[in-house]
Amino acid sequence: MDSISPVDNYFVRRLAEKGHPLVIAGPCSAETEEQVLATARALKALGAIDLFRSGIWKPRTRPGSFEGVGTMGLRWLQRVRDEVGLPVTIEVATPRHVEEALAHGIDVLWIGARTTVNPFAVQELADALAGTGVPVMVKNPVNPDVALWAGALERMERAGIHNLAAIHRGFSTFAPSRYRNAPTWQLAIELKTRFPHIPLICDPSHISGRRDLIQPVSQKALDLDYDGLIIETHPDPDQAWSDAEQQVTPQRLGEILSELKYRYRSSDNADYLNKAEELRQKMDVADREILEALARRMALVEELAEYKRENNVKILQLDRWNEIFKSRPEWAGKLRVNEKFVGELYKLIHIESIRKQTEILNRPDEQ
Ligand code: PEP
Ligand code: MN
Repeated sequence: MDSISPVDNYFVRRLAEKGHPLVIAGPCSAETEEQVLATARALKALGAIDLFRSGIWKPRTRPGSFEGVGTMGLRWLQRVRDEVGLPVTIEVATPRHVEEALAHGIDVLWIGARTTVNPFAVQELADALAGTGVPVMVKNPVNPDVALWAGALERMERAGIHNLAAIHRGFSTFAPSRYRNAPTWQLAIELKTRFPHIPLICDPSHISGRRDLIQPVSQKALDLDYDGLIIETHPDPDQAWSDAEQQVTPQRLGEILSELKYRYRSSDNADYLNKAEELRQKMDVADREILEALARRMALVEELAEYKRENNVKILQLDRWNEIFKSRPEWAGKLRVNEKFVGELYKLIHIESIRKQTEILNRPDEQ
C-alpha cells in the first residue's frame, strides 16, 4: 500500500479542523424537494452537522419498492449545498451515477453495502472515480467478510483515490438478533488495524434498524474510537418512504448528539497514567497465568490422546463435552465472569483439543 500523508485525506482534514467526530445526517431517501430542504434546514440549525446525506437511487431488495427519485433529486441537493450551506453526499452504484453526481457538484459519494459485495461493480466505480478527486466512503459488504471490504478500499487506493473513509453499517446474519444488521464490532476493528490511515464512520441507523438503539450504538462507536457517525434523519420518520423504523427527527438527533459522551483518547493526568500502567502490568501477569493454565490443559489433552491411541478409542466423547459446556459456564458465573463468553471460549478450546487429538491418533506408526 502507498504510504500517504494523512493531510491528503479530505476526511482526516475535516476531522482535524473540527477536533471532534464527524456527523453525517439526512434522510434515507430524498422523497420530495420540500422534505429534503426541510430536513437540511433543521439539521443546519443544529450547528453540528458536517455533511448532508440522502439516497437518490435506492438499492431495494424487491422490485416495486420505492427505488428513489433519481436524477431529479440531484437538483434538490444542489439547493441544500448552495442555499442551506451543507455539503452533500449520495450513494452511487454505477459509473452513470458517478457521472451525474459529479455533473451536479455532489461533494462526497458513498458506495453501498450491496455494491461492496461485488468486485466487478467496485472496480467499475474505482475506474469512474479515478482522477476526479471526489471523496468516497465505502460501506462494509452485506455479508460479514472483512476481506471484501478491504478489497474495495484497495481497489480505490490502486485507482489513486486517497480521499477515503469506511462506513460500518453492520452485517446480515441468519441468527436472530436485536439488530437489523449485527455490528460484529471485531470486523470493523480488524479493518481499522489494516487501514489505520482511513477514517472509520459508524452507521447506527442501518445497524440498529430501530430508533431506540441509535444512541447506545453511537456511544459504543465513539468509545471504540470511531471518527464519525452517519444517522438517518427525517422530518416525519413514521411517514418515510424507506427505512421508516430507524429514522429520527432532526430534533431527536440533536438530543442524541448532546447525550453522547465524547471521551479522550488518553489523558495526560499523571495519576491516571500511573494507575493505568499498574493495572496493565497486573493484566500482563494474569495473561501469563491464563496461558500457563492453557498450556497445562493442552499437555493433558495430548497425554489423553496418547492413551486413546493405545486403546483405540474415538476422539469425541459427547457426554464429557456436554458436561464441560454445562459446568464451565456455571463455574464462571460463580466467579462473576460472563457465562456466555466462557461458553464461547470453551467452544474454541474444544476445537483445538479435537485438532490436537486428531493429529495424535492419526500419526503414522513408528517403524
Ligand atoms: C443507505 O445508507 O440508505 C443504504 C442503502 O445503506 P446500506 O448500503 O448500508 O444498506
Ligand atoms: Mn436507509
